[in-house]
Formats: sequence, structure tokens, C-alpha cells
Amino acid sequence: MKSDICILGEPVEDFFVRMEEFHGYRSPGILVGSLMLEAALQRIGHVPYLNVVTETVVCLPDAVQLLTPCTYGNGFLQVLDWGKFALTAYDRDSLDGARAWLNHDLLTDYPLINSWFERTGYKREKPPFSELAEEILSTGPELIRCQEVKLLHPLKNRRPMPTGRCSKCGESYTLHHGSRCPACQGKSYYSLGANKELYA
Ligand SMILES: [Zn+2]
Repeated sequence: MKSDICILGEPVEDFFVRMEEFHGYRSPGILVGSLMLEAALQRIGHVPYLNVVTETVVCLPDAVQLLTPCTYGNGFLQVLDWGKFALTAYDRDSLDGARAWLNHDLLTDYPLINSWFERTGYKREKPPFSELAEEILSTGPELIRCQEVKLLHPLKNRRPMPTGRCSKCGESYTLHHGSRCPACQGKSYYSLGANKELYA
């Protein structure tokens, strides 16, 4: 791989090391996501209050967390579960932003990227990362499409959310969910284990 390639100013090999440390392995999705992010950030320029929204829960959130100060935990990264490989970087005050996505029209010209990205049923071919990365980085800017957008409203709720105790379980939760917490409304993701003892 050519060592002079940079992702947002960082040598690509250094980025791959950080990616592996953070994500657990080298991910083509994060690499494509980093190119999307680069395209969107170049389009909007420096903004004082950067936020990013991704339209899928896989890969793209980690690209954002690796390359920007926006994290899931600080609320400046929002993650939509739409299954779309796209993201928008925007200024949370002006709501001006740029949305970037993978150029599907181009995929058939790139067999490795195509076999990685296109899935039929559960079958998914996984070319070796190094070959895939080489192809992704060789495509040039046309792999990513980017367009200026204006957000309809900020995605982060900036007002403090009132909290209170659930009338059933007594635990604290944000009251906008209703008179009981989501778990006590039947939305729980757990049941109690065989041992029902309380621990400190
Ligand atoms: Zn409850």
C-alpha cells in the first residue's frame, strides 16, 4: 500500500492501527466511512459546533468516533438504525451540513468492493482487508457522493430531561417515556436469573 496516503491528515497505516485498537479489527466499512467523513468535512469546512449523524449502526459510528470529537456518549454523534451507508456532518447551531454516501453506481466497476458491500441473503464474501483497502483507496473521490444539506431540526435534545422514579420498579428514568420506565412497560430486554438475591 502506498504509504503517502492520508485520511484527514493522518497516514493511512497509522489510521489502520488505531482502527484495529478501537474497533477490534481492520474494517473496510470504517475505511469507506472515513472517506465519507473526509468528503463531508471538506464540504462544510471548519464549523464551531460539529455534530455527525450516521444512517446505520454498523461501522460508520466508529469512523466518526475515531476521526472527530463526536462520540455516542457525548451526544454529538447520533446513530439512526436505517441500514443506509451514509452520514451527515453538520453544525448544530446553523444546522448547515453535508451528507455523504457510497456511490452505488460505481460499485460494479470495483469487484472487491462490490463483493464486500453487496449481500445476497446471509452470504457475504470477505476479501482480505489489505486487498479491499487497496481497491477502496485506489478508486479516488468518485466512490463517495456528497451533497450540502440543511437539517430540519437539531438531533440532540439540548434541554435537560426531567427524571423521576418509576411507579413500578422504583428506579429512576427520564419521564418522557410515560408513567412507568420502558422496562416496566414491557419493553425489557432481560428477565431475572435463577438467583434473585440482591447484591450491593
Ligand atoms: Zn420500572
